[in-house]
Amino acid sequence: MLPQKFLSDLEVAIGVKAMITNQDDIAPYMIEQRGRFIGQTSLVVTPATTQEVSDIVKLCAEHSIGIVPQGGHTGLVSGGIPFAGDNAIVLSTSRLNKIRTIDPTNNTMVVESGCILQTIQEHAAQHDRLFPLSLGAEGSCQIGGNIATNAGGINVIRYGNTRQLVLGLEVVTPTGEIWNGLRALQKDNTGYDLKQLYIGSEGTLGIITAAVLQLFPKPKEQQTAVLAIKELEDALPLLNLAQSMLGDALTSFELLPRIGIDFSLKHGQGVVDPIEGQYDWYILMEASVAITHSNLKDLFQNYLETAFEKNWVQDGVLAQNKSQSDSFWLLRENITLCQKPEGGSIKHDISVPVSSVPAFIKTANEAVRKMIPGIRPHPFGHLGDGNIHYNLSQPIDMNKEDYLNHWEEVNRIVHDIVHSFNGSISAEHGIGRVKRDENQYYKSAVEMQLMQNIKTALDPKGIMNPGKLIPVS
Ligand SMILES: Cc1cc2nc3c(=O)[nH]c(=O)nc-3n(C[C@H](O)[C@H](O)[C@H](O)COP(=O)(O)OP(=O)(O)OC[C@H]3O[C@@H](n4cnc5c(N)ncnc54)[C@H](O)[C@@H]3O)c2cc1C
Repeated sequence: MLPQKFLSDLEVAIGVKAMITNQDDIAPYMIEQRGRFIGQTSLVVTPATTQEVSDIVKLCAEHSIGIVPQGGHTGLVSGGIPFAGDNAIVLSTSRLNKIRTIDPTNNTMVVESGCILQTIQEHAAQHDRLFPLSLGAEGSCQIGGNIATNAGGINVIRYGNTRQLVLGLEVVTPTGEIWNGLRALQKDNTGYDLKQLYIGSEGTLGIITAAVLQLFPKPKEQQTAVLAIKELEDALPLLNLAQSMLGDALTSFELLPRIGIDFSLKHGQGVVDPIEGQYDWYILMEASVAITHSNLKDLFQNYLETAFEKNWVQDGVLAQNKSQSDSFWLLRENITLCQKPEGGSIKHDISVPVSSVPAFIKTANEAVRKMIPGIRPHPFGHLGDGNIHYNLSQPIDMNKEDYLNHWEEVNRIVHDIVHSFNGSISAEHGIGRVKRDENQYYKSAVEMQLMQNIKTALDPKGIMNPGKLIPVS
């Protein structure tokens, strides 16, 4: 139960219309993306200005009430919902959704945290610029959530993670102060880089209310191809060659397993098989340049010819137009979406050094098959940056619940292998609540203590997204 004084002061500060108290209206904010957990709260607030966020946080600090920031609610680690016993409210940023300014000469854009990623991409494009962050949830995730999770996506190999795409931030601190760090500077060596502390902090250190984003020249020419490879190991020289022959024109290099394509063809809408024969592994790759009349097409064709000559590619198709390229990406997107109809799926979002990806997949496949005969691994994703979504569908004839009961056991086996490759158990989705204890298991005591020190220094009352990322002491 929230104190009456807190509720009445809040009503004065933000108005009753920005306070959702009916459980039916609260329900959509509580069901996380994968439906594994359901949150619990008696209040969702929807501020429309940074000042309102500040007023809310000050009242929460005064009454020691937790605050869970929520953006587009597409996160995959249960970071955006309060759990029973957290004594926390949800602060939705959906109404903080203005694009404040765009400066094409400076290649920057100032946006509020509730702006939908796709809206930002479109606005940049209207000014002949590119905001390169791109991921499957871009139609509903918000830039505040992207920044809070340091989102990755399909263009990291060329443009980096969200961390590399943010020049400045505006943040409401856990005491309710507003830090205006909206500096649109390429160079700024004036002490600790506080924005980098907030990027990837998953709402545990403050609420991001606005950001200065880095824009790039808009690509004028693009080449997209799907290539079939015989052995997983062939992906490495293929990537190496692409880096040598296409240089920084290479933007995406994604791994697709045959089983994922089969799931997509079976359950997806409008999905087509790009290559006639069947192979175990495929690469979806894209290159782009921002100048007109480039020789990208020739470069790409030379690249493909060399790859065929070396026997690293068995078959391939180069998109002839935008709609064919879109159909390749539709296939890729459906690999994520079409696991659900195949029953239970135990998921991992891992990274290892790029050159270790094939060895990791082989070792992990062997280990999980030994543990659960009939298990169906379908590792896919951002091979170009070493990030694989190592997802495991249940054996066809197994009960879903029985299979999912193995979730933690399987995680441990897979994460031990990741650890042995000096990899990460969360490459781009973050830690949230789901991976909190697993993260503590693998990180050194020194690293955990440093993170705890930062949390305590900035949020001594522990009100910002309680129970997420940092273990409860
Ligand atoms: C189909 C699909 C594909 C996906 N593909 C990718 C992918 O390729 N790469 C990738 O990185 N992720 C991917 N994701 C995961 C997800 O979309 C990203 O994590 C995204 O960045 C979350 O943004 P959001 O606005 O939905 O945040 P939410 O889910 O609302 O919140 C995520 C976390 O950020 C915190 N937070 C949100 N807003 C703020 C704020 N303003 N200030 C402080 N903290 C805040 C929340 O408390 C929570 O801890 C995918 C998800 C789906 C469903």
